[in-house]
Amino acid sequence: MLKSVFFRTAAAVTAAASLWGGEAPAADAPAKPNVLVIVADDLGYGDLGFQGGKEIPTPNLDQLAADGVKCTSGYISCPVCSPTRAGLLTGRYQQRFGHEFNPGPAPDAAQKIGLPVDEKTIADRFRAAGYKTGLVGKWHLGNLPEFHPQQRGFEEFYGFLGGAHPYFPGSPQNNPILRGTETVQDPEYLTDAFGKEAVAYIDRHKADPFYLQVTFNAVHNPQHAKAEHLERFKEISNERRRTYAGMLTAMDDAIGTILGKLKSEKLDQNTLVVFISDNGGPEANGSTNGSLRGQKAQTWEGGIRVPFVVKWPAAIPAGGEFHQPVIQLDVLPTALAAIGHPVTDKNLDGVNLLPFLKGESQGAPHERLYWRFGPQTAIRQGDWKLVKATGIDAPQLFNLKADIGEKTDLSSAEPAKFQELQTAWNEWNATLVPPKWRGAGVNANPNRQPGAQPRNRKKAAEAPAT
Ligand code: CA
Repeated sequence: MLKSVFFRTAAAVTAAASLWGGEAPAADAPAKPNVLVIVADDLGYGDLGFQGGKEIPTPNLDQLAADGVKCTSGYISCPVCSPTRAGLLTGRYQQRFGHEFNPGPAPDAAQKIGLPVDEKTIADRFRAAGYKTGLVGKWHLGNLPEFHPQQRGFEEFYGFLGGAHPYFPGSPQNNPILRGTETVQDPEYLTDAFGKEAVAYIDRHKADPFYLQVTFNAVHNPQHAKAEHLERFKEISNERRRTYAGMLTAMDDAIGTILGKLKSEKLDQNTLVVFISDNGGPEANGSTNGSLRGQKAQTWEGGIRVPFVVKWPAAIPAGGEFHQPVIQLDVLPTALAAIGHPVTDKNLDGVNLLPFLKGESQGAPHERLYWRFGPQTAIRQGDWKLVKATGIDAPQLFNLKADIGEKTDLSSAEPAKFQELQTAWNEWNATLVPPKWRGAGVNANPNRQPGAQPRNRKKAAEAPAT
């Protein structure tokens, strides 16, 4: 098992102590904290400064990580967009309710495909707790009226319903920018607009406790960067990479603007902030996943392991690293525990991370994490991972502590461990339901070669699933 390492910094203790009149909070903060969940799209694991990236400065995300806890084994429950969001919003493995794949391309997107309406969302729960709830950004959980964010617990919505969107004006007719349910004029650059809308939301609700979710479509295709950012990265000769750098810079800037607003309103100390990506980086957008194998749409680490930061100065000391596996399913129970409304549902898969991140509980929040994405599967238990993914015919066993790049298959050397993990995965799999639909973003053929490009690149702006 990985050992949990936690570093408490003097600065964090001082900050917490000064906020609470000289006493650091003993338990969850007494005042009603706000919650801000920021989701990036198709971000490369190795591209942020705090993740070891050197090429693209990300000062605002680096500061966020420095002010919070960096979860170094942070996962999402699917290597593509929509199912990860379904898991985030419900705290449940999305395969439990058939949301295993992305909604398919049009005209499938017009069919009754979306986050099943009998699933309770994190926004439903915050609203029931008396919180204001808002969503800024990409939805990708259904296009029909019954799936609209404002039917799923979010009182306010600014963004788009599909899986991707152009960044400059020119919305596809079937995927406009909406405020609530009304189509509005396209903004100049979408990432900037999402930053501004999030700031405006905080301004409107600074006197209320709020749950705000900001789901950037950056750095998902199509590749559209601002001229000033392309100029800034002109030394990057690969055009795809250069554009990606520009798009990531715009997102980092927007996040800096949002976090700056929290600070200027003196809300930063008692706002729980979570930052994740919805899946690993695809080659198609010029991202890099560092030392991880594979990419988006694969159950290799490069598809499912993501940057993962939790920051809450009033309750969680700054500057820590948490090495035990955590997953985006944990956001719901963690955030609800933070506001004093711990979930009691027996059917959740996520767990409250606060005792672990505060250093009060030792050990692992999860005994095991599981993945099923069509023919691709994985299970992680301690340092061990059993995976069947793009490019291999049979499951392979890796010790991630020694081999984060999944290079040395230990199936033959560790047959008992192989069988133990296979049995555990089978038991979990038996609790799932069949997929309710099969959309794009699925490798029907698990032997499809790594590096193969997603289809529909030309029509990326309308492709819901890449
Ligand atoms: Ca994505």
